[in-house]
Amino acid sequence: HSPIHVIGGGLAGSEAAWQIAEAGVPVILHEMRGVRGTDAHKTDGLAELVCSNSFRSDDATSNAVGVLHAEMRLAGSLIMKSADANQVPAGGALAVDRDGFSDAVSAAIAAHPLITVVREEVTGLPPKDWDLAVIATGPLTAPGLAEAIRAETGADALAFFDAIAPIVYTETIDMDICWFQSRYDKVGPGGTGKDYINCPMTEEQYNAFVDALIAGDKTGFKEWEGTPYFDGCLPIEVMAERGRETLRHGPMKPMGLTNAHNPTVKPYAVVQLRQDNALGTLYNMVGFQTKLKYGAQAEVFRMIPGLENAEFARLGGLHRNTYINSPTLLDGTLTLKSRPGLRFAGQITGCEGYVESASIGLLAGRFAAAERKGETLATPPATTAFGALLNHITGGHIVSDDEPGKRSFQPMNVNFGLFPPLDPGAITKPEGVKRFRGKEKAVAKKQATASRALADCAAWLGKSA
Ligand code: FAD
Repeated sequence: HSPIHVIGGGLAGSEAAWQIAEAGVPVILHEMRGVRGTDAHKTDGLAELVCSNSFRSDDATSNAVGVLHAEMRLAGSLIMKSADANQVPAGGALAVDRDGFSDAVSAAIAAHPLITVVREEVTGLPPKDWDLAVIATGPLTAPGLAEAIRAETGADALAFFDAIAPIVYTETIDMDICWFQSRYDKVGPGGTGKDYINCPMTEEQYNAFVDALIAGDKTGFKEWEGTPYFDGCLPIEVMAERGRETLRHGPMKPMGLTNAHNPTVKPYAVVQLRQDNALGTLYNMVGFQTKLKYGAQAEVFRMIPGLENAEFARLGGLHRNTYINSPTLLDGTLTLKSRPGLRFAGQITGCEGYVESASIGLLAGRFAAAERKGETLATPPATTAFGALLNHITGGHIVSDDEPGKRSFQPMNVNFGLFPPLDPGAITKPEGVKRFRGKEKAVAKKQATASRALADCAAWLGKSA
């Protein structure tokens, strides 16, 4: 076989290279560190962890990222093998010695007879003679390549700056307080009337909320984050600081909305949440991009009527991030539709996190190797963590009717909201259990979703779970 070129030796690129080589296909891995650094990496090691040393929960029975760990191990992941071998105690989480981990990945790649590492910056799209290639250059893709990707994919397809609003699990929103309605009852083509969930506020609640936003603990900008705000993407607390009425005339305006539970009383302000995934299991808080610290966010946002018990699939944040608009640009095997043979992997596809990035590298590597061998690899079932994440990246996104052009695709960690619902009757009250509601039921749902994922992943890989 002629080689497949992988650009970027981070979490995704290292895993992609490993999977390709393990499939018997030679790989050339191009990594620029050693020649050119990034604003966040500190070493020349492959798969350097730029920030925390945690791969998050390792619980494969009831945690979505734990399930992803287990699926990656089943698929022979180099990243997981190196993490397991360099574990440091961290309760139920999988945390690693970052240098030991990166050394293990680097050594395994260096020792693989089918992998050649070239230290160089790739400054444009792969040349034509690299007929199969994977771009895995991450959130800090070097400017030359980022520009070339932008030229190929269209000006607004590459985000250089990321203002993120929190995303809430729908089932944790109190619908005895909130109601479904889009402003002025606008329902676009294909609309279900469930595009928006509304949370009403009285004047007193609004004032207390604005005070809490202004007082909340904020994260400072680091140097590499020194990018200006996108227009219309001001953090919510910055808007609050501009004047007491700013939010009530902005994202929290009550116009065109009638409280279904109390139609005669006009809310003083309204927080809107917009459906975030095709399944309707997640809603994002419209206009609530924020740089409040995570703890402060949970505390302040649970002051919103109806969100008292909200659980967040992701909290808001603000950081530099390079990612493409994958749902429109990539096909189901991560190939750029406009350039057959060119795949993307890792954070640049719009997943978020070390484990997620590596898992998308794993899939891209397997798809590329199969293509080189003239085989077809079925995509992982939607019920697996692999499939749920891949579907988040390559399809299934809501584009809001009333804000044409607004990108609804946001990078996200793997979470149970991305999995299809269980079949009715899939969970039943265990014998001898008296109370089977709320928390108990939620745990049983997670467990059933996790075991379904692992069984389906094993079947996909042709292995026993
Ligand atoms: P990377 O691991 O960044 O790998 C990309 C590689 O491509 C790099 O080695 C880079 O040198 C190389 N490269 C870039 N351009 C070129 C080029 N033109 N030619 C050749 N090589 C190139 N996730 C977490 O789970 N936990 C965290 O704590 C965390 N903290 C983060 C902190 C920061 C500052 C950032 C930016 C991201 C953080 N992330 C975190 C998100 C994400 O998980 C990591 O960025 C992760 O490393 C992404 O994996 P990747 O393989 O896509 O990119």
